[in-house]
Amino acid sequence: MKKIALFPGSFDPFTKGHEDIVLRGLNIFDEVVIGIGKNANKKRYFPLETMKELIEGTFSNRENVKVITYEDLTARIAREVGAKFLLRGLRNTTDFEYENGISQVNRYVYEEIETVFLITSPQLAPISSSIIRDLHRYGQNVDDFLPYNLPKPSIV
Ligand code: ADP
Repeated sequence: MKKIALFPGSFDPFTKGHEDIVLRGLNIFDEVVIGIGKNANKKRYFPLETMKELIEGTFSNRENVKVITYEDLTARIAREVGAKFLLRGLRNTTDFEYENGISQVNRYVYEEIETVFLITSPQLAPISSSIIRDLHRYGQNVDDFLPYNLPKPSIV
């Protein structure tokens, strides 16, 4: 049976740190589904559909990477796409505290789900979506942190 992992996140924006987790995930799983979660209460900075297209473009040469958007419990979506694994990245102890909680909840919702954590590659650990948003908001070029080029003129 195909081993499928769902890599869920806000990806606002998807960064080189996220790309690294996907590529390393492909060494473990047959397929990685990147799930961009929609949160009705949180306004995005980079539009969802644009981000989906940019991520699809990043992995256009890899058949075993898919991109979906969803608005539901992550564990339910994992079941829906046939994923028995959730893929997450761990940068530091703050990530650990947060991830510890949500992985328990995900197993409560779907008891067969197993969360697999990859420790961030050290050179990518400082990259966070929120810092990139701040840089971009004030006109700083952020291309170095992203695995694709943002459309010009700016998409936001
Ligand atoms: P969420 O809002 O669900 O935390 P993010 O898009 O911020 O979504 O992150 C998705 C996943 O990617 C999380 O597991 C997060 O820890 C991980 N991640 C974020 N930045 C990096 C990075 N630079 N290197 C590795 N993993 C990262």
